[in-house]
Amino acid sequence: MSIQSYSDISSFYPPQRTLMGPGPSEIHPRVFSAMGRPTIGYLDPVFVDMMEELKELLRYAFQTKNAMTFPVSGPGSVGMEMCFVNMVSPGDKVIVCRNGVFGGRMIENVERCGGTAIVVEDPMGKPVDPEKVREAFKKHPDTKILAFVHAETSTGVRSDAKTLAAIAQEYGALTIVDTVTSLIGVPVLVDEWGLDAVYSGSQKCLSCTPGLSPITFSDRVIELVKNRKHKVQSWFMDLNLLLGYWGESNRTYHHTAPTNSLYSLHEALVMLRDEGLEASWARHRRNHLALKAGLETLGLSYLVDEEYRLPQMNAVYVMPGIDEKEVRHRLLEEMNIEIGAGLGPLAGKIWRFGIMGYSCKMENVMLCLCALESVFDNMGAKIEIGAAEAAAYHAYAARPLNNKPLKTAA
Ligand SMILES: *Cc1c(COP(=O)(O)O)cnc(C)c1O
Repeated sequence: MSIQSYSDISSFYPPQRTLMGPGPSEIHPRVFSAMGRPTIGYLDPVFVDMMEELKELLRYAFQTKNAMTFPVSGPGSVGMEMCFVNMVSPGDKVIVCRNGVFGGRMIENVERCGGTAIVVEDPMGKPVDPEKVREAFKKHPDTKILAFVHAETSTGVRSDAKTLAAIAQEYGALTIVDTVTSLIGVPVLVDEWGLDAVYSGSQKCLSCTPGLSPITFSDRVIELVKNRKHKVQSWFMDLNLLLGYWGESNRTYHHTAPTNSLYSLHEALVMLRDEGLEASWARHRRNHLALKAGLETLGLSYLVDEEYRLPQMNAVYVMPGIDEKEVRHRLLEEMNIEIGAGLGPLAGKIWRFGIMGYSCKMENVMLCLCALESVFDNMGAKIEIGAAEAAAYHAYAARPLNNKPLKTAA
């Protein structure tokens, strides 16, 4: 008998990329180095203290006092599923808003839990229309839950979470809100808006290693889950069992926490606490305005109306007559820059420029615009070389940081 050795495989060294797509975003060296700290047991008292701090720091990010605020061991998709499997019982009516790819996944989740999805549709690139949601509640006043995506990453549109939640409250329904892309890029005010189950992702604006889903549940959700008649069909995601690990006291083994990933989330959240939420929102907005000035100078126009644009996710129509795939290919292969493509019906029609978290910085914006200009010019587009960077730089100068104005020509 011979043992297969795979001797041709050696260590994996990924290239250093500039990440300007829909996530993951770049990771700060402090967050990376936190990952390399010693692994300890998930019930080690030192680790348990760190867990408490993590919960506290996440409450700041979500702007909530909810006791059940913690990172789910799994990507944003697990956070999404966690809400639905715990809150939707067979036969429950759920109003789901679909204005992009992620709303579609919510419908799938409701149906797999045996619930009935009442779908409120809006076109891709438009926000959820609160009037349509109100109509749906009027027709189905026995609806238990309203589910919607705050920031649709597939199009870069922001919906009005505060107004949507207020409608759900009028009808006594709970809310499930996807804030994977919105958290810390734009305001997410869980308590002020009265949101119930809110999940996010570690790899978007939080700029942490992928694979964790910060989540928060209001007391109303905990009560609902404790009083369920049917067992939650997922053992791993059953909140009743998870409470034993992430709850306040008498912690017991549920699953092995991804210790080192949690260190990195802790570090990313300490950095957020130091920067401040308002400063984080302002940073995303400032870089967005500069990127926008550059993209528009190149003749690219936004998919989403200005009022509803997410600063961290910029979807623009592809330049006419230019092979959109070729552009992305050249940016990645030649200049190590990743940007996003269109999804579903928008495939081939848009590019998505993400400036999330640590990717949201001046050098990335300037580099990306310069690279785009060169590629467009080389592919035969009629553009003025240098104009996009100049426009972006002007936009930066118009919004100085820390009262330190950039030097501008007279
Ligand atoms: C990225 C994303 C998700 C899924 O997160 P994963 O970590 O990829 O599972 C869900 N919702 C939205 C809006 C997202 O942008």
